[in-house]
Amino acid sequence: MSQGERVASRIVVWTALVVPFLVIGIATYESYLLIGQFAANYLLRQGRDGPAIAIIVVTVILYFAWFLPYFRILSTLGTNPGLIPFGPDDASPLSYRGGLDEFYNKAAYICVSVDEKLPIWCYTCKNWKPDRTHHCSELGRCVRKMDHFCPWVGGCLGETTYKFFIQFLAYAFLDCLFCLITSAVLVAERKRVTGSIPGQWVVAIVLPAVFGFFCFGMLATHIPMLLANRTTIEVLNKSHVVHWLAIGTGADRVAKNTSPGENVWDLGPLLNCKQVLGDSYVDWFLPIRNSPCLKKDAEGEFVFGPVVQRLRGESGLEEKKPVL
Ligand SMILES: [Zn+2]
Repeated sequence: MSQGERVASRIVVWTALVVPFLVIGIATYESYLLIGQFAANYLLRQGRDGPAIAIIVVTVILYFAWFLPYFRILSTLGTNPGLIPFGPDDASPLSYRGGLDEFYNKAAYICVSVDEKLPIWCYTCKNWKPDRTHHCSELGRCVRKMDHFCPWVGGCLGETTYKFFIQFLAYAFLDCLFCLITSAVLVAERKRVTGSIPGQWVVAIVLPAVFGFFCFGMLATHIPMLLANRTTIEVLNKSHVVHWLAIGTGADRVAKNTSPGENVWDLGPLLNCKQVLGDSYVDWFLPIRNSPCLKKDAEGEFVFGPVVQRLRGESGLEEKKPVL
């Protein structure tokens, strides 16, 4: 990493430490404007109790709807961010054999090439990289199923946090939409009746408009990736990436390569969503349980789709259906 990249990386990390406080502060201020200014100071004083109570209730519900998954992201990044441990200082892919059994006990895993059925090596962490692991330059660590380093949540999103990130985006967008529509309606009404608008009322429109636009853009980017079972990193070279897979066990293990652009983890849109959000539809909406993709089994680091079944068949190995 060059000096310039190191400085940029430090700036990103420091930004990540500050931004979550800003996000929570700005969202809390927006909720205060709706409850304190619109509901209490404006509607209740006019005796319009119904709309005032409705605004208070919906504002509180939507505030907690986005805050809970946001809190899950922050707490999970602090307790279980999905980091790969460092190997010994003198470890090299030629000599280090620690942890290889975890790969060899699986029915298939991503390997280097047809000659080298070894998993991919991280020269910085000095350890093997489980499938879909990527080295995060901001953290200087390998992260399981890394998606991207996100200053908005103060860390690197991976398999332990991506579900909560999607929920956070969805609820934050709904919250912004509600705040924007409510503010716009009441600002228009007040302007019509009194001819003036307080400065804070304008802020109440601008904040959800800016953040809502951002959340919509992020959702429009991440939902197609969720449906296709690809991370942000995997999308970058999705049209020409070729994976080498070590398939089978022991002496029967063979290395097969995919065609360019094939996604070995694509299970179809519904099962792809379930892998991240949860097997039960209730889990899709509640930030309680972890993603099913955290459960590892002998089949693979992540459940393989039909591409691997085909490769297994081409290798003369018995075809297996993905285990969910
Ligand atoms: Zn690494």
